[in-house]
This record gives sequence, structure tokens and C-alpha cells, in this order.
Amino acid sequence: MALSRSARRSSRLLALATAVAAGFTIAAAPAATPGAPGIGDPYFPDLGNGGFHALHYDLGVSYHPDSGRLDGRTTLTARATQNLSSFDLDLQKLTVDSIRVNDRPADFTRTGDEIVITPRHWLRKGERFEVTVVYGGVPKPLNGPIVFGSDYGWMKTKDGVFVACEPNAASTWFPSSDHPSDKATYDIRIDAPKGLTGVSNGLLVNSYDSGGRSYFHWRETKPMATYLATATIGKFDVKTGRTPGGTPIYVAIDPVLAHQNTVDVYAVTAEATDYWSKLFGPYPFEETGAVVDDMPEAGFSLETQTKPSYSAVRSESTIVHELAHQWFGDSVSVRQWKDIWLNEGFATYAQWLWAEHRGTETAHDSFRAAYNARPAASDFWKIEVADPQRDTMFSSAVYQRGAMMLQALRERIGDQAFFKLLPAWTKLHRYGNADTADFVKLAEHVSGRPLGDLFQKWIYNTGKPAL
Ligand SMILES: [Zn+2]
Repeated sequence: MALSRSARRSSRLLALATAVAAGFTIAAAPAATPGAPGIGDPYFPDLGNGGFHALHYDLGVSYHPDSGRLDGRTTLTARATQNLSSFDLDLQKLTVDSIRVNDRPADFTRTGDEIVITPRHWLRKGERFEVTVVYGGVPKPLNGPIVFGSDYGWMKTKDGVFVACEPNAASTWFPSSDHPSDKATYDIRIDAPKGLTGVSNGLLVNSYDSGGRSYFHWRETKPMATYLATATIGKFDVKTGRTPGGTPIYVAIDPVLAHQNTVDVYAVTAEATDYWSKLFGPYPFEETGAVVDDMPEAGFSLETQTKPSYSAVRSESTIVHELAHQWFGDSVSVRQWKDIWLNEGFATYAQWLWAEHRGTETAHDSFRAAYNARPAASDFWKIEVADPQRDTMFSSAVYQRGAMMLQALRERIGDQAFFKLLPAWTKLHRYGNADTADFVKLAEHVSGRPLGDLFQKWIYNTGKPAL
């Protein structure tokens, strides 16, 4: 993100009870119990869910711009990680019409932003199961201090909707295990009034018009965090092709922005995708691109997987930031939200690398400028970058001091080790999750040097460090 500026039958339980009654001692499977309502993130205790792992989402999103209504149908394929008597999905506000588990009606209740689902038959540990939720309503954006004071999530535009959900707004538009540590693949099917375009992640499988509506089927075959899913809808001019390096590219721009040609989004996206592929390792996804919408009230852009979302025509520096996130954040994702500097510090550092690549400023000078611009008394130095707390997780320290950490590391271990470390990191944790300790460990391994003091100084300590 960047600021601009087979179900076991209950008869088995009966058999067990009968056996116990008959006096047998049985090494029985543990009883089925409810899955935890959260995945264990201290910043968002209710987000994500326990007792299963998400494998694949099939999202159906039917949008009606006049009323703002979304009619949704989500089928989640998941694997139970314990014997489950019930489990939760996250869904904020919208109304649930029905739920089926393994194609049988399931009971459910709502508690806050949780749907508590009780399948007809309990689910065995290791079992793969499907849950289908039919739901609907008018999704509302979230707001508050977390995302620069801006609204975020499902945001109505003049001609449709702009969808950018970091960190916790995916569950405002589809029921999910809404946490980056529970990644899954996706099919996303969008329909809207004829003439509008639905843009989402991955590759466009097909699109067609029928009965006064336009239909779009997108498929993301690589694991994706919920917050990186999008379904932006509106009038768009679409340009497709391949980057010079051969990666397919899809760029959608709201036609009302056509006169704003301060930056060639298509060309910069292509060039930066190819350049980052040389520095960070092979591009991790099947397509690159952008969706540029007319939603200036959203004061941010987001690295939605394969196609960053820009709420206006943003700068070249913002574009290269969001594309760097395809490696740092999207392919290698945080384990908990406190690890957010692994996304934002790296994407900010990528902006410094881009300036170095362009010959405008070395990363060393960018580092010095960022360091010198902030006096020791500045609140900037009061944030612990490695654990910035929920409401300040996107504070400038996470971005800028995170980037300073990386330049300090580069100057300690040298260019050769540093530019070996970056692709080693994206390879080791490709499509997975990692935390700060994992990065320190790899940096020490690649450089062959102890580095604990350096990480302590730049991301664990507060206060302005001496150079
Ligand atoms: Zn960012």
C-alpha cells in the first residue's frame, strides 16, 4: 500500500458411545470441537479462523450500482486441521441467506463479524470440505486511523466500485478466513450492468454479455491473501499485451482520466515489472498490470495481486512501489500484521532503488535525506518498526525507517551479498508467509555475519539511532 502523498457420520459417535457403554477401552479419535474464531493475530484477534486452512475461493459477485447492492455466492474449499464440530468465517455486516457444507444445509449464527457454521456432520481432521455461502447487501467501506484516515475496502465510485481492502476489509464483501496467513487460490466471477468492466486478480478466463449484463471470470492460480483480492467495477479503457521481458500485462484506466497523461502507466508497469524481475527474482504471477480508477477520495494505492489498484493517476514512484509488493507482500506475505515492514519497508526501499536505477539519486542519498529530515524529537522515531501496533501499522516510520534498515544492511554486508539476499528471500518464501526473524536468519546466512545488533538498532529500538 502507498499513501499518495467426506463428512464422517455422527453414527460414528454413536458407535463410540455404544462401545464405551459396553466397557471397551478405546483409543478414540479426539472429539470434534469448535474452530477458534480468530487465527491468532494480536492486532486483529477475530480475523482469520482456526480449525481449517483455506484452499480455494470461488467468488460470485453480482453488482447493482444504482442501489449499491451486491448479491454474492462464495464457495470455499478448505481442509480441516482438527476434528471440527463447528467453524467460523469472517463477514462484516452483509446478510447471509443460506449456507451449505458439502452440499448439505448447515446451521449458522452471527456473532459480531463472525459467522459460526455448524455442519450437519462433523468434519474430520485432514478432511477436505466445501462451504457455500449465499449472501447479499450493500457493502460499506471501513474507516478509522489504520489506513491514513482514509475510507478503504468496498468504495462506491461514480460508475461502479473501487475495491482495495488492506488490512481487514475483504470480509466486507466476501465471507472468508480474512488473514494473510491463510492464503488460497481464487476464481472470481463478476457481473455488472452491460458496458461496465469487472477487473480482478490473475488472468481473465472469459467475458461475455447476456441479458443486459456483462460477465467476467478471473482466475488467480497462485496463493493470494484475502486483502489482495479485488473486484473493481466501472467504465475502463483496457490495454493488454506483453512486457518486453514477456510477462502478460493488463492495464485498465478509467476514461475520465485519459487527459491526465503525466505518467504512462502501461509503459512504467511493463518496465518496472521487468526490472524488478532482474533484481528480486522471477516475476511470481501470471500477469502484471494496473487498474487506475477515478476515486481520489481514497488517499492510497494498493498492491492488489497481479494488478495494483490506483485511486487516481499516481506517480512513477508509486507504481514501482506497488509492483515491488508483488514480491514483497503478495508472493512473500506477512505471518502476522506486525511484520508489515517486510512489505512497506521493502516497497519503499524499491522506490530508492528505482531512483538509483534512473540516475536521479543513489539509495545512500535517499537514506541520508530521510534520516536528516527527521529531528531526534520527531514522533517518527517513537514507532517500533518491527511491532508498530495496529493503528499505526501504516505510519511513515514503517515505510521510511524500514527502508533505512535495508540500506543500513546493504552498507554493512555489501552490494554482492545484499543483491543475493533479495532474490534468495523471494525464492525461499515464494507464495508463503514469513516474519522478521526469518529475514534476519537468511540475511545472516547469506552474508555469513551476525547482524542482530543492526536489526536491533533500526527496527526493534525506538529513538533516532546514531549513524
Ligand atoms: Zn506499500
